[in-house]
Amino acid sequence: MKTVREMEKALAILRKESKKWDVPVVTLVAHTGKNPFRVLISCLLSLRTQDTTTAQAVKRLFPIADTPQALLKVSVKRLEKIIYPVGFYRVKAKLLHTVSREILKNYGGQVPSTIEELLKIKGIGRKTANLVVSEAYGKPAICVDTHVHRISNRLGIVKTKMPDQTEHELRRKLPPRLWRHINALFVAFGQHHCRPQSPFCSSCKIYRYCDRVGVKTSR
Ligand code: SF4
Repeated sequence: MKTVREMEKALAILRKESKKWDVPVVTLVAHTGKNPFRVLISCLLSLRTQDTTTAQAVKRLFPIADTPQALLKVSVKRLEKIIYPVGFYRVKAKLLHTVSREILKNYGGQVPSTIEELLKIKGIGRKTANLVVSEAYGKPAICVDTHVHRISNRLGIVKTKMPDQTEHELRRKLPPRLWRHINALFVAFGQHHCRPQSPFCSSCKIYRYCDRVGVKTSR
């Protein structure tokens, strides 16, 4: 894939296709109420965790606590039990407290709406910051996770080794109006179709736009 026009066409096809796929959990949380704190917490829980597990964890957690104040009233031990079995649930239970405390102390209880401010909070990395800015605040940002990194390289839009480089290159090459749609579409596409091992190239609707960089086996 070489041009912005081609990328636009590929994203339009994926948008149509995505109606058949499960919506990524963070996008789902963002669509139900635009509560930035809920989006932030679901992002943190979803790291290194399957979407179905995260979805169950937030379903248990949010009726009990979906504000920094409420979350700090729940002990770390109880939080561990509520969010189990998300990956690194013990570390994440502590992290939810740290993040809530900082948001209360430094931001008056409001989740910051810029990547720069979010990155000042201990435990929040670029992936989470980008996802909160794009999903909770609807601003241009590109969250590059493993799916976005892999698919961007396979398509030939970027040629990068690390997700941070991919984010930088995507920002450089694509217009901001396309940024915030990339994550949800590529995550769903990566989970269902452009799989890490042996992607389904023979039935891929965006095959004509793909350079299939590094794809050795496919179905
Ligand atoms: Fe992925 Fe294959 Fe489609 Fe390229 S052609 S986007 S590698 S499934």
